[in-house]
Amino acid sequence: MTWQTAIVPDHLTLPRKETGKPNLIGLTREQLSEALAGFTPEKQRTMRCNQLWQGLYCKGVSSFDGMTSLPKAYRAELRARFSLARPEVVTRRISADGTRKYLLRIHGGHEVETVYIPEEDRGTLCLSSQVGCTLTCPFCHTGTQRLVRNLTTAEIVGQILVARDDLGEWSLAPGARRKLSNIVLMGMGEPLYNTCNVRDAMLIAMDGAGISLSRRRITLSTSGVVPEIRRVGEEIGCRLAISFHATTDELRDRLVPINRKYRIDSLLQACRDYPRLSNAERITFEYVMLKGINDSAADARRLVRLIAGIPAKINMIPFNPWPGVCYERSDQDRIESFAEIVNRAGYASPVRTPRGEDIMAACGQLKSATQRPRKSRAKVTSALRGS
Ligand code: SAH
Ligand code: SF4
Repeated sequence: MTWQTAIVPDHLTLPRKETGKPNLIGLTREQLSEALAGFTPEKQRTMRCNQLWQGLYCKGVSSFDGMTSLPKAYRAELRARFSLARPEVVTRRISADGTRKYLLRIHGGHEVETVYIPEEDRGTLCLSSQVGCTLTCPFCHTGTQRLVRNLTTAEIVGQILVARDDLGEWSLAPGARRKLSNIVLMGMGEPLYNTCNVRDAMLIAMDGAGISLSRRRITLSTSGVVPEIRRVGEEIGCRLAISFHATTDELRDRLVPINRKYRIDSLLQACRDYPRLSNAERITFEYVMLKGINDSAADARRLVRLIAGIPAKINMIPFNPWPGVCYERSDQDRIESFAEIVNRAGYASPVRTPRGEDIMAACGQLKSATQRPRKSRAKVTSALRGS
């Protein structure tokens, strides 16, 4: 079964080098300091690290020449040894509602999508963590694209950098409102099958001397990789969202196939044990509304019984269709009465407004055009081994 292949071998996860030179983007502070060690006097290392960090993550500098706070000779030294590789923006589409979808090309010619969603009080960037997904939730477009590989830390951070470039965020006046204020790990892939790279990328995004996003403004969504959930709280500290979608194991086995490995009771136990859990930091349960499948009043009542005692909100997601899918979106009155039952039980139950549907940027519609590798996973694997 597909979920059994989900732990991705290291050779698919290790950072690769586009130019043959190691990329400085995506290194943690410790790794950056180590990278500079060979040619930077010990006494200057922290200062050089800080200067680079500021250039990369405060100013958005994308070339060594632009690192004007560094001496010229040092810049030349860096250029000879390293690269500053970002994902390449292949296309940028803007929806009638202002949502922006970027198709990005990364090493190996693979493509991933990143979506920016502007709202009145915030601007949210939806990041991908994998090319494709090993899981096969049948209502999700990404799930039809088999996993090609995990994204590196640089590629995850790179999505933030290119969005900030496009939004003109680097020249923001002090105190001005950010356009990119929140991050959700809800794009392509299962972030908890790539936990280490996702964690390092989020630590970079949260670093106060750089992009400086608060941990409370980052939400990681998982389909339910139970053994990794605690690490999200302990090592990242961000908010947690669970793609719940069904209230019996029988139905969840079908809708979210990872449930065959990690059952509802163990998933809910992991939620109860989540280190950051409190009324101020509730877990979001995502619930996709599929007509006639999981949207009955009995489902709603079972849902609130199951999560009893967990500080939570239920985020209902009207199903977003894609070509060839066999599900339909629940009717509006069904969604409303489901929300009403959940709400009466004491849980906030916002219904997510589909955004960017006209450009296939809404939840679950992402799928890169990179279909070639799907034909032969073995070929991709051997190509990566050789690189
Ligand atoms: N793999 C992770 C994160 C990405 S999916 C996860 O599954 O949690 C982000 C959210 O969109 C998940 O809750 C997912 O179940 C939901 N989703 C997937 N396909 C959808 C669709 N076609 N319509 C609405 N929501 C969908
Ligand atoms: Fe993968 Fe999430 Fe889509 Fe399921 S919903 S196939 S886990 S991306």
